[in-house]
Amino acid sequence: MSGLKSRRYFFALCLLATTAANASETVSPWPGGAEAAVILTYDDALDSHLDVAVPQLAQFNLPGTFYLSGARPSIRLRLEDWRKAAAAGHELGNHTLYHPCSKSAPGRDWVKPWHDLDRYSLEQFIDELQTTNSLLTAIDGEQQRSFAYPCGDMNAGGADVVAAIKPLVVAARFFSADGLHRVDDPDYFRLEAYDGAGKSAQDLIAVVEAARANNNLVGFMFHGVGGDYLSVSAEAHQALLKHLSMYPERYWVSTVRDAVAHLESAQ
Ligand SMILES: [Zn+2]
Repeated sequence: MSGLKSRRYFFALCLLATTAANASETVSPWPGGAEAAVILTYDDALDSHLDVAVPQLAQFNLPGTFYLSGARPSIRLRLEDWRKAAAAGHELGNHTLYHPCSKSAPGRDWVKPWHDLDRYSLEQFIDELQTTNSLLTAIDGEQQRSFAYPCGDMNAGGADVVAAIKPLVVAARFFSADGLHRVDDPDYFRLEAYDGAGKSAQDLIAVVEAARANNNLVGFMFHGVGGDYLSVSAEAHQALLKHLSMYPERYWVSTVRDAVAHLESAQ
């Protein structure tokens, strides 16, 4: 091999090696160089959030995001408990006042006719979000918070709500099969979350492990925790939290509000 040819060959090898290294090591955008960010979210202001999820989060010193609907009984009966949860570092997110959902979708017989999102107007939906923001500010004093679409529905009276809610909340969460949101996806109004209902500890841990590959933001949506409905067992939930707290170099656990603020500041 001539000198020039061998130099070219060496250069090509170096290029290949560099490309391979880049493909396997994307740069972490998360604090501390964590491999993935994790958002733990809890919908519908359930008693088991206050009785089981909040104490378990405290046990491992992890923050959660609780999506409250203003008309839920726990808002009037346990308001001080929600205030304490916010003071402990949890986000109180907006989940509307009345939890309107599209009654025409499959399996929605339970939706009351006067809470049928198909019969809302877009203006009515936005009014309800604004009022819920005011209610939550009265509880926690915060001016910014994220939103979770009730039932994952993004239409009110046939009108798309996504653009209209952007002035009112910093991000919005729905749910998907894998719960993964790519860090290069700047749409914070379609943050994904994995539905934890009925899942085992192994199922939940597999989801966070899968998020490490591409420095993804991975979300969990829980309803009941060791009680109430659409529940995950207290044991499976606790096992997930234990796994997250055991590996801080892998996982940065954050509220939705803080995760989005971090991504926006990094841009
Ligand atoms: Zn809900």
